[in-house]
Amino acid sequence: MAQHFDYICLGAGSGGIASANRAAMRGAKVLLIEAKELGGTCVNVGCVPKKVMWYGAQVAEAMHLYAKDYGFDVTVNKFDWSTLVASREAYIDRIHGSYDRGLESNGVTLVRGYGRFVDSHTIEVNGEHYTADNILIATGGAATIPNIPGAEHGIDSDGFFALEAQPKRVAVVGAGYIAVEVAGVLQALGSDTHLFVRKHAPLRNFDPMLSEALMESMATDGPTLHTHSTPESVTKNDDGSLTLKIENGESYDVDCLIWAIGRLPSTANIGLENTKVELDAKGYVITDEQQNTTDAGIYCVGDIMAGGVELTPVAVKAGRLLSERLFNGMTDAKMDYSVIPTVVFSHPAIGTMGLTQPEAIAQFGEENVTVYTSGFTSMYTAVTAHRQACKMKLVCAGDNQKVVGIHGIGYGMDEILQGFGVAMKMGATKADFDAVVAIHPTGAEEFVTMR
Ligand code: NDP
Repeated sequence: MAQHFDYICLGAGSGGIASANRAAMRGAKVLLIEAKELGGTCVNVGCVPKKVMWYGAQVAEAMHLYAKDYGFDVTVNKFDWSTLVASREAYIDRIHGSYDRGLESNGVTLVRGYGRFVDSHTIEVNGEHYTADNILIATGGAATIPNIPGAEHGIDSDGFFALEAQPKRVAVVGAGYIAVEVAGVLQALGSDTHLFVRKHAPLRNFDPMLSEALMESMATDGPTLHTHSTPESVTKNDDGSLTLKIENGESYDVDCLIWAIGRLPSTANIGLENTKVELDAKGYVITDEQQNTTDAGIYCVGDIMAGGVELTPVAVKAGRLLSERLFNGMTDAKMDYSVIPTVVFSHPAIGTMGLTQPEAIAQFGEENVTVYTSGFTSMYTAVTAHRQACKMKLVCAGDNQKVVGIHGIGYGMDEILQGFGVAMKMGATKADFDAVVAIHPTGAEEFVTMR
């Protein structure tokens, strides 16, 4: 006989775990189903290992670019990729342990295996049936590779995190977060890295100041940027190297090719055909503003949601709010998908929230938009021969100059944005920013002293 639960969460990534724990804390009998490691993309092959690699790159930059002018006579004998990977994986193991303990203390039942809908209220895992009044789909997404000859010789971001040795020459293809972050890390750690984007710039949908400043930094420090470069084919050579041929006729020999051209939802093999859940043309689950799918009692959060924002904290917040609604009487609870702060761990880091300047002009009209900018050399690098620029921008709209966009690239920007995010979410105006006393000397103070 099928075991019955109040709530089943399919997928123990960031969204599924957060929702399962919160539901259990509110007294629900909860089953969480996961075939792989706990934590999904973010913990195992995404944000967490990426950030560790980025910190490794920061250490490399500190030693190679800045230490000398701070008076340190540093000789780096070698960089051991496998030590960094081992430290990273040990850290991830500790996260797995803390997830295990959290689920156990909240009384969430965890079943290991691939779950599949048998009908709208029944999930099958390893031949066992489990029923629930409420089921959450939180199965996340997976990287895609292009449909060109030889594409299979490349790896995706999962493959990047599986690399046991540092590649000497690398091609990274893509123009989004992952391409920029992976290329930046490899370059800083010493790989000869080439970033191929098919249009004029990486991060071309971000505020133009950000993508332009990033390209200026790449021109000085690498990776080597190839714009208007769409891959045509990949061939594997006898010595194991790869030749990447570009549509413009150029070709490049590399040891490793990384595709970072976007991700697609993992909705194909979970039995959705046995439910009334509707998908959009790309396979994303259609939901309303309270995470309800088109089948009553089935919900969806995270990277598989149509029209969602593919960021871990978004899935976590949506998952928790859903549980508050279902099991804690908060009938109006819903995720606010507008104005979400985000950071790209590029070199230097980018922080961005709200409208870009072109978006603000399109929305409010040029005459109603005021833009404030600041450009300076970060103090950390200003005392060295390797000076690195910081650029910041406030986009304001209307007579009261409400801040509708905050953008920055430079040292510390990854940590600066969060607090300003609170202000912006509260509807702060330029005058509110100006009313705050600057913290000196910091980079962040520029945001409250712009003229
Ligand atoms: P994105 O969708 O962000 O970017 C991929 C880009 O690659 C596209 O926008 C496109 O840019 C380009 N591209 C698409 N197809 C091709 C092709 N066939 N050949 C060459 N280039 C192509 O995907 P990512 O994989 O970078 O990231 C997925 C999601 O993960 C992101 O949306 C992000 O939300 C999340 N993420 C967040 C991070 C963070 O918060 N720091 C870190 C990593 C990921 P164009 O059209 O300009 O060519």
